[in-house]
Amino acid sequence: MLYFVFTIDGDWDEYFDAKLPEEKRRVNDKVLAALIKREIRLAKSAIGGKMLHFVHSSPLARDYFVRPAFISLWKQIEQAGGSVGVHCHEEQLYKSWHFEDADKMKLAINFLCNGLRKNGLSPISYRGGFMTFSPKIIPFLEENNLAFDFSCEPGRHLVYNNVLVSDWQGAPGNYYRLSYEDHRKVGNSKVFEIPLGICIERLSLWQIWKKARQLKKLKETQVLSVMAHTYDYKSFKMRLKIKLALLILKRYGKFINDKEALLIIKESG
Ligand SMILES: [Zn+2]
Repeated sequence: MLYFVFTIDGDWDEYFDAKLPEEKRRVNDKVLAALIKREIRLAKSAIGGKMLHFVHSSPLARDYFVRPAFISLWKQIEQAGGSVGVHCHEEQLYKSWHFEDADKMKLAINFLCNGLRKNGLSPISYRGGFMTFSPKIIPFLEENNLAFDFSCEPGRHLVYNNVLVSDWQGAPGNYYRLSYEDHRKVGNSKVFEIPLGICIERLSLWQIWKKARQLKKLKETQVLSVMAHTYDYKSFKMRLKIKLALLILKRYGKFINDKEALLIIKESG
């Protein structure tokens, strides 16, 4: 059986524009809230609300998304059958990457988890910005009852200015229990990895259809993520593409939320 978790990273365009002054790279409240409402509407109509929105946290927007205006949106997502997760961008954009800095990552993960939980939300999933990950953060995920990491894109090897940013070479193509020693290997931590299966932005609808057909042929229980970003929802064309992609994928696999994924994975042993 093939299962998909539809994930949306809560990032906006300006965040990634290193040429802008810091003030301009920050979130525009109204714009972002409107895009998130579109996420919710689209997921409701296409896949019964089963989306996983990764709430952005970074030095630039540390407490931004745990303020009441956004908490009410996160609650709408949960009420519709979806979830929110923790998405930490701790980098100084394209300059320094802190995903291996245990102290920094611990603070960031704790801060966002606590902010969401004390407002009644129940995150169980993590994804690193730029798909960064280090085994050093596994204990912090465990302490915060985060059962899943979604940072794996099998084969990914991202290097900026000779610095290795994200390395998933040799990682399994299906879900696995993370090793404390090497995040690309199966091990015995309490955190399960759910790899990226379909990136809607990078593939054409034709490629998405072909990939879904291939995946469907495999016999084992598969749980994979499907990826989009909040900034995609600005464009009508991208919203249409996301909707069509979800409708195609729905013919081959079942969309589930992360809590359902946990039950399925535990049952499969
Ligand atoms: Zn991101």
